[in-house]
Amino acid sequence: MGSKIYDIIIIGSGPAGLTAAIYATRGAASTLILGGERWGGQLMLTTQVENFPGFSQGILGPKLMEEMRAQATRLGAEFKEINAESIDVTKRPFEIIANGEKYLAKSVIIATGAETVWLDVPGVKDLIGRGISSCAPCDAPFFRDKRVAVVGGGDAAMEEASVLTNYASEITIIHRRDTFRASAAMQKKVLDNPKIKVLWNTEITEAKGEGKLEKLILKNNKTGEISELLIDGLFVAIGHKPQSEIFKGKIDMDERGFIKVFDGARSSVPGIFVAGDVHDFRYKQAITAAGYGCQAAMECLDFLTKS
Ligand code: NAP
Repeated sequence: MGSKIYDIIIIGSGPAGLTAAIYATRGAASTLILGGERWGGQLMLTTQVENFPGFSQGILGPKLMEEMRAQATRLGAEFKEINAESIDVTKRPFEIIANGEKYLAKSVIIATGAETVWLDVPGVKDLIGRGISSCAPCDAPFFRDKRVAVVGGGDAAMEEASVLTNYASEITIIHRRDTFRASAAMQKKVLDNPKIKVLWNTEITEAKGEGKLEKLILKNNKTGEISELLIDGLFVAIGHKPQSEIFKGKIDMDERGFIKVFDGARSSVPGIFVAGDVHDFRYKQAITAAGYGCQAAMECLDFLTKS
C-alpha cells in the first residue's frame, strides 16, 4: 500500500499466479500477490490431485496450493488475501485498487482464473447455498444419507459424484448428452460405483423448493418427456467462466471474456501479462496453469529489464 512501487503485482493465487510469483522473486523482482479473499483458485475446491507431477501418491488440492504459497512467500513474495477491485492501465506505474487501497506496479500478471458457471434455469440462483452447490469437497458432508444430483459430464462432474459417494445415499448424474466428455479413468470410477446412476439426454428445466431445494424438473431431450426428481442437493459442474470482469474495456478479450494473449504471455497492454485459466479455454489444467505462470513471469522480467 502507499507509495511503494512493486516490480510485479500478480492478481490471482492459483497455480498460475503462484508459479509466476516463484519465478518473479527468483528473478529478483519485488513481487506482490493480490491473492483474493478466497485465495488458491479451483484446486482449493478439489480433493485428491493425481495428475500433478512430483507427487507419486497424489496430493490434496488445498495442500498443493498451501505448498505453492509457502514456496512463493519463502522466496520473498508478499501475499495479501484481498480482491483486486479495479485497475488503471493508462497510468505508469499501473494503479490497482484492492480492498479500497491503491497499489502501484511497473508490471502486472493477470492470473485471476475462472469461476463456476451456474445452470441458467428458473430456481437455481435462489437456491444456491440452500441445497445447490458447486463444490462437493466443501459441501458434501451436509448431504449425509441424502439424495443428491450432479449436473454435467466432464471431469468435474465425475469428481463431484465420486466425493458425494462418501456421504450421500444416492447420486444421480444428469447429463444432456449420451456420452460423458470426462477422461476414461474418471468415467470408469463413476460408472462402476453402484451408488451412482446416470440420466442421459436429460436437462434440468427448473429447480424447486421452499427455502431449500426439494425437486428438479427434468426433460428428456430425445423423447420430450418431462419428469420430477425429488432431491436434497444439486451439485453444478458445467464448467467455468474467466474472471476478467475488472479488465473489461481495458484489455482485449474475446466475446466469452477470455483475455487475448499475444506472442507468448503478453496482453494487449504493454507491461501486462496473462497466465492460466483466465486466457486458457483449452487445457485448463493445474500443470498448464503453472506453466503459463512461469512463462508470464519470464516475459515480465524481460520487460522490466528492457523498460
Ligand atoms: P468441461 O470439461 O467443460 O465439462 C462441462 C460439462 O458440463 C460438459 O459435459 C457439458 O456438456 C456440460 N454442460 C455445459 N453447459 C451445460 C449446460 N448449460 N447444461 C447442462 N450441461 C452443461 O468442464 P469441467 O468438468 O469443469 O472441467 C474443466 C477442465 O478441468 C477440464 O479440462 C477437466 O479435464 C479439468 N478437470 C480435471 C480434474 C482432474 O483431473 N481431477 C477435475 C476437474 C476438472 P457437453 O459434454 O454436452 O458439452
